[in-house]
Amino acid sequence: MPISEATRALIYDRCYVGGEWVASDSNESFAVTNPADGSEIAQVPAFGSAETERAIQAAHDALPAWRQKTAAERATILKKWHALVMEKQQELGELMTLEQGKPVAEAKGEIAYAASYIEWFAEEARRVYGETIPGLQTSQRIIVTREPVGVCVAITPWNFPAAMITRKVAPALAVGCTIVVKPASETPLTALALAALAAEAGVPAGVFSVVTGSAKAIGKVFTESELVRKLSFTGSTAIGSLLMEACAPSVKRVSLELGGNAPFLVFDDADIEAAVQGVMDSKFRNAGQTCVCANRIYVQKGVYADFVEKLTKKVEALKVGNGFDEGVVIGPLISESAVEKVEEHIADALAHGGRIVCGGSRHELGGTWFTPTVIADGTQKMLCTREETFGPVAPIIAFDTEEQGIEFANATEFGLAAYFYSRDLGRVRRVSEGIEAGMIGINTGLISNATAPFGGIKASGLGREGARQGIDEYSEFKYLCIDS
Ligand code: ADP
Repeated sequence: MPISEATRALIYDRCYVGGEWVASDSNESFAVTNPADGSEIAQVPAFGSAETERAIQAAHDALPAWRQKTAAERATILKKWHALVMEKQQELGELMTLEQGKPVAEAKGEIAYAASYIEWFAEEARRVYGETIPGLQTSQRIIVTREPVGVCVAITPWNFPAAMITRKVAPALAVGCTIVVKPASETPLTALALAALAAEAGVPAGVFSVVTGSAKAIGKVFTESELVRKLSFTGSTAIGSLLMEACAPSVKRVSLELGGNAPFLVFDDADIEAAVQGVMDSKFRNAGQTCVCANRIYVQKGVYADFVEKLTKKVEALKVGNGFDEGVVIGPLISESAVEKVEEHIADALAHGGRIVCGGSRHELGGTWFTPTVIADGTQKMLCTREETFGPVAPIIAFDTEEQGIEFANATEFGLAAYFYSRDLGRVRRVSEGIEAGMIGINTGLISNATAPFGGIKASGLGREGARQGIDEYSEFKYLCIDS
């Protein structure tokens, strides 16, 4: 794959710790590969416990000076970081496509989305307000201030190599916390490039470090360290639950963005064309590998046949290929095991009465490409109604009444995103109140943006990212009771 010189210049093969680019103590490293062809892009350090402890120590040492800066000073540095990321949007996008596979246009979109969190929290940095409360006695004043939580750590996944970093790091820095990030081993290069740009913007040494290597070893140090006050994690529910348990002995704060299993409901009264487009937007972004992707599509009986036909036409038109090729909208899946999971879900759907309308198998390109798939005649017995498929498969299940639609939507342990299409105002109110989810898209398939609180309920997690609520996650409230 031809990589431009400017993109190559953003590839770092060292971790960024305490303001320096460092190798692992043993000099061991691991390969970062291109999911499109398996070729090696770079080697990054395989950090163990000792190196991770030093990164945390650096964050601890950098904390006093960083938290004492004025909000305006922190905001100015964050704004500079935002500007540098946007200046390098093309190069960072190409780097992301190299290590993650998503088409360049989509990767550039993620860079803008990632940068929007930095901009938003640069603005919010100036509004980390406290409050005063009338006292119980004449002589008493009650004042509530916010202070930074302290040293934070974050563990992030491979599906959004840039945005999952900035929406944790930017609010942490805005409030005055310092942070050490361990990106997914599949996609550490985007994270390291973001750290380099943060340093260029003036983020002081130790305030934001990136460590790469064994998730288990690094995760253990993160959760056991007495210096760390908070852990923020985005990934699977199984690992999130383990990390929460590991944080319990030292009572660290945790924010968890975990698995989803988003239902997408289309009611009889919906604008069908718009609903079809909504599914395309929500289901096929990143080849179906996002935690807010529609995982189960429920269509009311009156419009079912029409909907399946219209959706299938659009799905058949999706261009599959290398993310660097013109017009490609579906890149390779991240790994062979991701493809195997998709195949398992399809086989299970067929065993439970599902019917393949289009796709259904690996793509002729080979590798980890998968043909976008529509499965009709689905039932609630199918595995894909209970588990995230994380691939380009759209299972469609018919439902009868509004109550049944809500019942199907809620028949899951997860509660991240949900979507529904209806033009009936009463129904919009009833269904949005009836569905158990942290975020609901109503007549839209696109809900993520920096100004809104992103997060889930039930097994989908704790806490919110983005919006003003994102600031709360990195703040401690201190209550002062003043009497004279
Ligand atoms: P995904 O299926 O999205 O890869 P994971 O939960 O497996 O979800 O991974 C998300 C992040 O968690 C990655 O950075 C991964 O390296 C990290 N991770 C995986 N296992 C552990 C663990 N035992 N402790 C800490 N982090 C882990």
